[in-house]
Amino acid sequence: MTTKAVERGHAPVADDVRAAFAATLTELEIRGVIDYRSVREPAAAVEHEARAAGDEEAVQRAALLGADALLRAGRIGEGGRLAHQARAWAEAHDSPYVLARAHRELSMFYRLVGDISDALTHGVQCVANLTDDVPPAIRARHLMTLAVALDDGGSIEEGDRRSREALQIANEIGDHALTLLVLNNMTYSAYENGDETAARALAERMRLASGRARRPLSANELDTVARVEMMSGRYASVETALAGILDGSLPVNEGDAAAECMLTLAEARRLDGRFGDAQSAIDRAILECETNGLGRLRARARQEQAALHAAQGNFREAYEEHLLFHADSAALHSTQREARARALQAVFEANEARRASEHFREMAHRDALTGLHNRRYVNERLPAILAEAAARRTPISVAIADLDHFKRINDTLSHATGDTVLQHIAELLKEAADGPAIAARMGGEEFLLIFPGMDGAEARKRCELLRLRIRTHGWQPVTGALPVTTSIGVTTAVDGRATVSALLSQADRNLYVAKRGGRDRVVADPA
Ligand code: GH3
Ligand code: MG
Ligand code: MG
Repeated sequence: MTTKAVERGHAPVADDVRAAFAATLTELEIRGVIDYRSVREPAAAVEHEARAAGDEEAVQRAALLGADALLRAGRIGEGGRLAHQARAWAEAHDSPYVLARAHRELSMFYRLVGDISDALTHGVQCVANLTDDVPPAIRARHLMTLAVALDDGGSIEEGDRRSREALQIANEIGDHALTLLVLNNMTYSAYENGDETAARALAERMRLASGRARRPLSANELDTVARVEMMSGRYASVETALAGILDGSLPVNEGDAAAECMLTLAEARRLDGRFGDAQSAIDRAILECETNGLGRLRARARQEQAALHAAQGNFREAYEEHLLFHADSAALHSTQREARARALQAVFEANEARRASEHFREMAHRDALTGLHNRRYVNERLPAILAEAAARRTPISVAIADLDHFKRINDTLSHATGDTVLQHIAELLKEAADGPAIAARMGGEEFLLIFPGMDGAEARKRCELLRLRIRTHGWQPVTGALPVTTSIGVTTAVDGRATVSALLSQADRNLYVAKRGGRDRVVADPA
């Protein structure tokens, strides 16, 4: 986020002045998403001052905040034009950060006008142009923009990957508002994929995050929650969730959120057999679309209209509306196909990977609470470790360690104490995993140790030491009188030949035997 560009006619901008503008702008960029109304004035003030000081990069960043606010307020054309101008400036002045920001706004702009292909192209660029030194909160927001564009283009898994990266960052930096934002996106795509179980669980996490962030759900988020309710046929809950949008008592942040909500309502009412009410919701959605030039949603409104006609037995009208829908969306669809092909190409290009910082990649493979490797890391690494052991015919042992009665610690002390215990355990595991060994947190209070090259007898000894080390650790200041113990199931592939799943399930079976046998013990393979 640096630039050497000093406009002609100005004295060079002092470093501290530049730094002050940059700090204010970063804060506003992070704040932007929900409180865009509160961003506009300070952004305009910075733009004015930065122009006077000759700090052109700050001027452009401030202008992009203005563009963002316009897009979210539904003034899409104006927002898009500002973003284009900032992009041109960034290219001419070699400013990667402004370029990344401009691409991000352009991605949102194209999405709003219904051009999925361009939304994706700019979404990829808004991540690709980030340098390693951008704050994680900003990187996460850019990843979200890319995730949304990928989802729209049909690259669901790729989108999900970016969302999870963003979620990991949000958790890591304790940014609840950001967590909520990411969860909203993930919930919506679970809904779109028809995965009701996942959607429900994610919606529940949204409610929790909303509580933690101390802010009520926004229009966009309520729409998501309402759609999840609709999946289960809970039409009354849809109506309740969206009541505030309908009567105007809730402010609507996103440019197209009001129209989205109306379409959700229309669909729920149609499914509930309330055709007249469904029609009035569609009418309001169409009004929103036409006032604000929302191409993507206009096509969806036609689709809903056709469905409503059909539900009432008016098949001729349904058919005609359907033709109109096709005319509207033909353009969307052809670009969508093209978008998918281009996305895959663009996304897999070395570009993004090359620019992604080492730290960032590392972070995606670490558990936020304990700093241990996470399940994702194990899933990616273990097959290769096994393949190597098999190729060399060297033994490999793995152990699953699960804390005993951990729930009791949470319940009788607190969840925070539970977390502290997990952190202590992680340190003991790191100690146990020296040399080529790897320690990972697989989730909750379950850990995995991988011992490449280690035979059964040695692995068993190591696990026994670890078990003792855990029970004799100085827990008194953490848990008082409550002991902390572990059960461990350990298994070995003597010649390195086993599948990942066979190895893990054998370790798991041994763990089960350890639990059943009274806990606080190590169980190895039966002789
Ligand atoms: P067992 O000896 O049979 O393993 O009993 P347990 O209580 O350890 O096992 P159970 O699976 O019933 O409970 C695990 C608990 O771990 C439940 C869950 O609330 C808690 N837990 C999972 N993840 C975390 C976390 O990140 N922090 C805290 N504090 N608790 C967690
Ligand atoms: Mg347990
Ligand atoms: Mg467990």
